[in-house]
Amino acid sequence: MLHIPCPFCGPRDESEFAHGGPARQQRPDDLSPLDDAAWVDHLTVPPNPVGPVREKWWHVRGCGQWVTIERDTLTHDILEETGE
Ligand SMILES: [Zn+2]
Repeated sequence: MLHIPCPFCGPRDESEFAHGGPARQQRPDDLSPLDDAAWVDHLTVPPNPVGPVREKWWHVRGCGQWVTIERDTLTHDILEETGE
C-alpha cells in the first residue's frame, strides 16, 4: 500500500485517497489533424508509462485537498510531493 504525503495531514494510507489521474496532461496544440477516435483516446485513455509520473490524488477521506506527487510506476516510490 502506498503512503501518500498530504501537506496538511502528513503521510496517509492510499485508501484515504482517490486517484485523480495525470497532472497537467498536455492538450495537443493543433487539434485539426486529430480524427474523432484519436480525440476520444486523448480524453479518455490516460497515459500509462513505466517510470516517474506526476499525478493528482484527492484526500477524499481526510482533509479534502488535492495533492500532486511524482511516483515511480515501477517501484511505487514517491519521489516528490508538491502539494499543488
Ligand atoms: Zn490531507
